[in-house]
Amino acid sequence: MKKSAIHVKDKVMVISGKDRGKVGQVKKIDRKKERAVVEQVNMVKRHTKGNPYSGQSGGIQEKEAPLHYSNLALICDSCTKPTKVGYTWTEDGRKLRFCKKCNEMLD
Ligand SMILES: [Zn+2]
Repeated sequence: MKKSAIHVKDKVMVISGKDRGKVGQVKKIDRKKERAVVEQVNMVKRHTKGNPYSGQSGGIQEKEAPLHYSNLALICDSCTKPTKVGYTWTEDGRKLRFCKKCNEMLD
């Protein structure tokens, strides 16, 4: 399965790794790498060098690192749980997602 069910602004839960169980909103998606950046999840520390010319002080900055789709599960607004996504098509050919647990539309 190559297509992701995850879209920007979706609420997702991390289902594996060190941040398992964390919930956040998707900020960014990299379709080629099949990765998503989730707000406040999978934070990594980055050391930055200070720049005296621009007045920036060096230090440690925290930033979200992208997570692979397979580590994320979409959360359904209706049942508020991580869910499996099903697809349906509208009469004019648009693809819509729905929650396989409660059958509510996700788009
Ligand atoms: Zn649901």
